[in-house]
Amino acid sequence: MTNSFIEFRNVSFRYGKDQPWVLKNVSFTIDSNEWVAVIGHNGSGKSTIAKLINGLLFPQEGEIIVDGLTVNEHTIWDVRKSVGMVFQNPDNQFVGTTVRDDVAFGLENRGVPREDMLKRIDVSLGQVGMSDYLLHEPHRLSGGQKQRVAIAGVLAISPKVIILDEATAMLDPKGRLEIMQTVSHLRQAEQLALITITHDLNEITRASRVIVMNKGEVWLESNPRDVFSRKEDLLQIGLDTPFVATFADELSRQGIKLGKQPLNHEELM
Ligand code: ADP
Repeated sequence: MTNSFIEFRNVSFRYGKDQPWVLKNVSFTIDSNEWVAVIGHNGSGKSTIAKLINGLLFPQEGEIIVDGLTVNEHTIWDVRKSVGMVFQNPDNQFVGTTVRDDVAFGLENRGVPREDMLKRIDVSLGQVGMSDYLLHEPHRLSGGQKQRVAIAGVLAISPKVIILDEATAMLDPKGRLEIMQTVSHLRQAEQLALITITHDLNEITRASRVIVMNKGEVWLESNPRDVFSRKEDLLQIGLDTPFVATFADELSRQGIKLGKQPLNHEELM
């Protein structure tokens, strides 16, 4: 038995019999209420991990356990009740003509009664700071606002974990910051587990733990500060440390002490 919310046990995956292995003997655990950032160069297997967690794919070897259930054809519908996914391109996720219709979609699919549905829409839009946009057209919103609506859609179904798969990749720096602040706040307020998948090291600073993927294998599992301290090694696997970490590093090399090591953008701004 395990207390972890998500567990990968020696998972290997390939997209077809004659295809190369995309994940090789991957093992890790994620506890409920943890924020885990999964980083790695393009093609290192990050999105495949996300798809395996909610049963869009199944591993050829090993086992994946989510909320006490082994992910397979029989359990995916129960697994998906606990797992909310937000993807890179917000435009691909919109189905409604208004923000309200859009957030309602997942609830309608689950047969949630109308009264309850309207309440949940209100609450989840409030949680992402988008209450004033109920009747707006999703396509007219900014990139950051669109992703916040997408997150509201996921929140409305009361998941236990939210996975953001490169969800900020198409946003400008302000939009990115907004999303990171929103999810950071949500994790604390809602006691959610959070998995952020990214190739951008700027986004790992708030995570409680970081899983670094390289060529389908777990290359390192540690905290953000330790990950940043391996600047040279990270460069070898195609990852560049963010300016903030390099800057803090340089200050400390020069003997300039800061009260708290600044690893968040806002702390330096
Ligand atoms: P990442 O998210 O880290 O960029 P992915 O998990 O998307 O990596 O991809 C890992 C590897 O699997 C890459 O080499 C990619 O080309 C391959 N791959 C991804 N999706 C498919 C697919 N549908 N069919 C075949 N190969 C795929």
